[in-house]
Amino acid sequence: MRTFDVAVLGAGAAGLMAAIRAAESGARTVLLEKNPKPGVKILASGGGRCNLTTTREGSALLNTFAESQRRFLRPSFRALPPRRLRDWFEARGVALREEAMEKVFPVAGRASVVLEALVTTAQTVGVSLRCGASVQRLEPGWTVVTSDGDIDAERVILAVGGRSYPKAGTTGDGYSIARGLGLAVTPLKPGLVGLRTADQDLSALAGITVDPARVRLFDHATGATRESWDRPVLFTHDGLSGPGPMNLAGSVGQDDSAWLSIDLCPDLDFDAVDRAVIEASKSRRKSIPALLPLRFPERLRRALVARAGIPGDTTAATLPRDARRRLVSLVKGLEVRVLDTLGYDRAEVTVGGVALHEVDPKTMAARCVPGLYVCGEILDVDGPIGGFNFQAAFATGWVAGEAAARERVDPGSG
Ligand SMILES: Cc1cc2nc3c(=O)[nH]c(=O)nc-3n(C[C@H](O)[C@H](O)[C@H](O)COP(=O)(O)OP(=O)(O)OC[C@H]3O[C@@H](n4cnc5c(N)ncnc54)[C@H](O)[C@@H]3O)c2cc1C
Repeated sequence: MRTFDVAVLGAGAAGLMAAIRAAESGARTVLLEKNPKPGVKILASGGGRCNLTTTREGSALLNTFAESQRRFLRPSFRALPPRRLRDWFEARGVALREEAMEKVFPVAGRASVVLEALVTTAQTVGVSLRCGASVQRLEPGWTVVTSDGDIDAERVILAVGGRSYPKAGTTGDGYSIARGLGLAVTPLKPGLVGLRTADQDLSALAGITVDPARVRLFDHATGATRESWDRPVLFTHDGLSGPGPMNLAGSVGQDDSAWLSIDLCPDLDFDAVDRAVIEASKSRRKSIPALLPLRFPERLRRALVARAGIPGDTTAATLPRDARRRLVSLVKGLEVRVLDTLGYDRAEVTVGGVALHEVDPKTMAARCVPGLYVCGEILDVDGPIGGFNFQAAFATGWVAGEAAARERVDPGSG
């Protein structure tokens, strides 16, 4: 008999939840983590506060994910919807609160309370946690070969995350393990990360946040929209960040002709902004920056006027109609050329991963590898900012843990 029924690889959100559910369901469970401590990324998340899920439920939740991922996620979101996940944490003493953009955070304002609840529960239900054990390879049957010795288990749950934010331990180890077992992996790229842009004139705006804002990623040649979001924008020294641009990062390709258009005033249409500027121009001695919405910081107003090519000595009284409309066009669509993303080192998620057709969405079992389960970010699943990625990790981990504990493997297979 093997030492463990279930070996879970990776003690992040998905692996911790999978191990808990497996042990609660009666499996002798070991959880292997390469870092000296579990849940490093949980501690780093949400600015150290951990936005662990969302208030969105049902189709509103599913529709937040790419169409190709919705059918796959439906069964696990049914098993562990956000409401049930919140109840799970609250039952373990983690008081939660809702914040802007439908985010859910611990009231304590510290991600550590989320991790403590997971680790304490894992200990209570009998999970054997082994840190400092980096998984090197899997020998079917299973023997898990780690930097700290071999582990025998009947079933294995692969929950080692993606390759973004490598300083948290996620260096993409899981993809070669998955490929080695014959699973297809879709092309990978960094997601939820800031963008480097070509526009030097905007670097003077570093530190300015525009909220509300609407961002749209489009092909310059055709004007076709790739993706758009109503989310705040943060100007940085090398480009753009904040939830809007970060959500778009996964749609930026290499060698790309992607441009980003920022609507700095999404609550008013072009004519309404134009009318407001005309109204403000009635004070004829006003400078041009003073005609722009007062909620814009002075630096932003000046940058827009400079971009519109309006000379510094122009006043409201001498502003030509076409210059005014150029200015309004910039307010409604400030265009910047995207050079690249800031890459995996800074990315919050990896876009792409183990192809979803390889995995049964009801159990997270690999269809062609008996006794192997896959969950969390290593899958070709990624959501926008707002607690959606933890929601997906917890829910797929939940399903994988239950199924791995329940399902028997034919000893002759695999
Ligand atoms: C800075 C930052 C902030 C974020 N904020 C949020 C947020 O607020 N809300 C949200 O929903 N999402 C957030 N995310 C995304 C979220 O952290 C991930 O989607 C989530 O952690 C994925 O969970 P996972 O368990 O699949 O993978 P991970 O959390 O990455 O866990 C995988 C674990 O496997 C371990 N591992 C890797 N290789 C091996 C190996 N060979 N052997 C053993 N162990 C291994 C890793 O060390 C790691 O502990 C954030 C990400 C980052 C980087």
